[in-house]
Amino acid sequence: MDKKITIAIDGFSGCGKSTLAKDLARRLEYTYIDSGAMYRAVTYYVLKKGIDVNDSRLVEKALREINLKFAAKVSEGIFLNEQLLIGEIRSSRVNAHVSTVAAIETVRTHLVAQQQKIARSEGVIMDGRDIGTVVFPKAQLKLFITATLEERVRRRVKENISKSIPVSTHEIKKNLQHRDHIDTTRKISPLEQAVDAVLIDNTNLTRIEQLEMVLALVRCRTERKIEED
Ligand code: C5P
Repeated sequence: MDKKITIAIDGFSGCGKSTLAKDLARRLEYTYIDSGAMYRAVTYYVLKKGIDVNDSRLVEKALREINLKFAAKVSEGIFLNEQLLIGEIRSSRVNAHVSTVAAIETVRTHLVAQQQKIARSEGVIMDGRDIGTVVFPKAQLKLFITATLEERVRRRVKENISKSIPVSTHEIKKNLQHRDHIDTTRKISPLEQAVDAVLIDNTNLTRIEQLEMVLALVRCRTERKIEED
């Protein structure tokens, strides 16, 4: 499959969007862009500067001091100015405030423009909350991923144990609920399923099952694109 398409993945927090996106990128030799890392890096900067995340004017001002660049490999993190951030953007503190920062209109306008610029060419997979609705409204394949809250908590607990990150089940559950609430109810580009997105509930799917399902969709959409071009 030489011809490449654009794949937009949206969905709730902690339902494995980035795992799926990375698996797809490896199998298809596509570029994966983690849009959440950009919102996380801005939040990290704002918190580090001691700026109140609820003061949108100050956050907006801070945006002008921020330059973001992805590391060569997504797993290697994101550069905030010259500093490489990996685990720092996944801390409990960033988790607790990222959705508040991401709800600020200027933050979104600024980052969406960068996302659209990074991904001008095809063969891109981007995951986030507004990718199919705002960033790539013309993506050939849009997925909206969900899973029950209990399953998402269970997976996150397991992941944290494997990485020796000490976070309680209660804290994980509260944070996922908190972010989902802000992300779905914010005024500017709230998290919602694009009308033409394929809904996948992966509660009862293994990683491989989900990957194979999506690869089949990618094959069909690629053929459709070839016919249309
Ligand atoms: O994808 P991830 O969970 O790392 O995203 C962290 C937070 O960034 C989300 O909870 C959401 O508030 C925000 N986000 C967003 N739009 C995106 C990606 C992430 O609002 N496209």
